[in-house]
Amino acid sequence: MSQDFSKKTSLPFRKLHVPEETIRRNQLIGGPLPQVKFITIHNTAEPFSAVSEQDRVAGREAGKPVSFHYAVDEREAVELIAPVFACHHAGDGSGSGNAASLAIEICRSACREERPGLYEAAESNGVLLAAYLLAHYGLPLSALKKHQDWSGKFCPHRILENDAWNAFVGRVGEAMVSPAELIPGEGSGAAELGAMLVPGDPSWCIALNGGLRFQDCASLKAALPAGTVLLVSAWEEREPAFWRSLLKALRAAGIKISGFYVPVTGASPWLRQDISHFAEGALV
Ligand SMILES: [Zn+2]
Repeated sequence: MSQDFSKKTSLPFRKLHVPEETIRRNQLIGGPLPQVKFITIHNTAEPFSAVSEQDRVAGREAGKPVSFHYAVDEREAVELIAPVFACHHAGDGSGSGNAASLAIEICRSACREERPGLYEAAESNGVLLAAYLLAHYGLPLSALKKHQDWSGKFCPHRILENDAWNAFVGRVGEAMVSPAELIPGEGSGAAELGAMLVPGDPSWCIALNGGLRFQDCASLKAALPAGTVLLVSAWEEREPAFWRSLLKALRAAGIKISGFYVPVTGASPWLRQDISHFAEGALV
């Protein structure tokens, strides 16, 4: 990708709120957010698009709440939870991270060389969104925080891996001089749907659409809208033969796969590999 993001002056933006009923049932928020004092940057550590993150937040089980206000990818920013609620994202309990900051998740951070430029484009849009929000709430650049500042977690992992936090802050500062406009509209293709592989009993299940879970490929295929391409992500380490057979079974059921991210044995927990382009049998 050779777009010059420093010249971008607008960012497609839409509200795709997690339903209030789901927020209540799964206790996704920590209460009202009376005053926005900070903006907190995260990386999703997933390959998914911003739109797909709605499923991820809505699908959380009650009692394990993780939530955030904005997800941004290479095409658009999506508001998932209204900025009047305190989300669970900073890992600091009732501290200022959760109770007084808006969370931006920069998506696609599991995507690396196999999808060149994708994460970088998402990060550039994250710069625009952060600058917009700081300006909108009348906050100084010093109100820009990283997840790590609140709880020590290695997040945003892509920015921290590159020792690039100060550079990121610098870019946001430049963007604040003339903040980008948020343009209402749909920026991304809706055909790609994110799915998490969940370690299951007895074998595995695949979770999408606000927690819908499937344990066999045929019922999953039947539930997918026509034309859907599935982007699959797993965190559990398994034998290559397991992944190979699962990928094969999904394809045999007629499910199109745009990516299949699995952990790399012995590597950093943040490093995962897209095995979807491997020919059958070539997986090692
Ligand atoms: Zn984070």
